[in-house]
Amino acid sequence: MIAELISVGTEILLGNIVNTNSAYLAEKCALLGLSVYYQTVVGDNEERMEEVINTALNRSDVVILTGGLGPTQDDLTKETVSRVMGFPLIEDAHTKEMILQYMEQYKNNNSKRRITDNNFKQALVPQGALILDNHNGTAPGLIMEKNGKTAILLPGPPNEMKPMFEEEVFPYLRKKQPETIYSQMVKICGIGESQVAEDIQDLIENQDNPTIAPYAKTGEVHLRITARAENEKECKKLIKPVVRELKSRFGKNIFATDEDKSLEEAVVDMLKDQKLSLSLAESCTGGAIAARIVNVPGASQVFARGYVTYTNRAKRKCLGVKKTTLKMEGAVSSKCAKEMAKGGCLISGTDICLSVTGLAGPGGGTDKTPVGTVFMGCYYNNKTVVREFHFSGNRNKIREQAVAHALAFLRDCMLEGIEKKD
Ligand code: ATP
Ligand code: MG
Repeated sequence: MIAELISVGTEILLGNIVNTNSAYLAEKCALLGLSVYYQTVVGDNEERMEEVINTALNRSDVVILTGGLGPTQDDLTKETVSRVMGFPLIEDAHTKEMILQYMEQYKNNNSKRRITDNNFKQALVPQGALILDNHNGTAPGLIMEKNGKTAILLPGPPNEMKPMFEEEVFPYLRKKQPETIYSQMVKICGIGESQVAEDIQDLIENQDNPTIAPYAKTGEVHLRITARAENEKECKKLIKPVVRELKSRFGKNIFATDEDKSLEEAVVDMLKDQKLSLSLAESCTGGAIAARIVNVPGASQVFARGYVTYTNRAKRKCLGVKKTTLKMEGAVSSKCAKEMAKGGCLISGTDICLSVTGLAGPGGGTDKTPVGTVFMGCYYNNKTVVREFHFSGNRNKIREQAVAHALAFLRDCMLEGIEKKD
């Protein structure tokens, strides 16, 4: 089944607001196994709206529109779709009652607010449409079906649109699909997107059911495996061998097979499982690794402390980095990362310490140490491993990548144990 999204609103067209509705809806459609081939943004203009609605209804089975359902003159979505599809508008007593109730409740909090005739414009509904109650505003959502085509009209404000979609539209669309769609996520760290793509090229080329869709995040690659079958059990049966195959190809680089699990959560879980305490010695990441770790509830069981040692003096005073190291090798060096990790570990008395020192730019790069060079050290069991990275992009991008790779590196060190002698 083909779905198409239309976002209505001149503010979106002008770039005054970001079209988060269509990103949200596109993801939901993918989850439902609907194919989205087109997304359109159109202003609050009847003629152009009519044109895009006609086009969408011609080429897609389900058209989802957001915005323009409000009470004002420039809210034209319902009127235009109804006209195009040939639905007369009639007043709906239940919707009118819902609007009254909502407005009364609102009035209690803001005595200046009056119910105007405009509000009742929202009680006009296309005859025969399915009405979706709005518990967070006044405009009801609408589902209109004709000649095998479906138009779904939702309010623009995300806090009204999303609950309505979750509660009513998602189950409605799921029922419409003859098959069940089920998907599972496989999350990978420590390997770049292009490498992952290359490693699964054969699987992607031959895919049919299930399908594999890669998504790149900073320092992570997520693979969504989606199957269609009669029921969830059959879907899982189809997905299982694909996950097994991915596990054999990516091994320990897979940190989660659960949609909601983050990389920091996987790291904290591993620290907990191995009963290890952690400290961090950060320079260019400025505490951002610590921030990711403390995103995880219960991180205090494993995370003891983090040092942000930005200057050479701080690296010496807080972590015991040697003056000669800083002088001879510089702060962005393998030796400095090594001493930071060891110093951090000994001073904090933790089992493991991860250090990061690098050059995020934009200035300060040399031939030997270009912008984007980052050294990471991990001290564990009286041994240190150091790894060198070269990231690209602007200052923020480099720092973001450093954080993600630091988490992956820490995970790696715990998994493998540390072989290299200090
Ligand atoms: P209202 O009753 O508030 O007028 P509406 O259904 O008529 O709702 P719009 O008037 O088109 O919707 O938009 C109202 C507000 O909703 C916008 O100002 C914006 O904050 C938000 N909004 C609308 N469309 C989108 C979108 N595509 N993505 C994110 N936010 C949106
Ligand atoms: Mg509006």
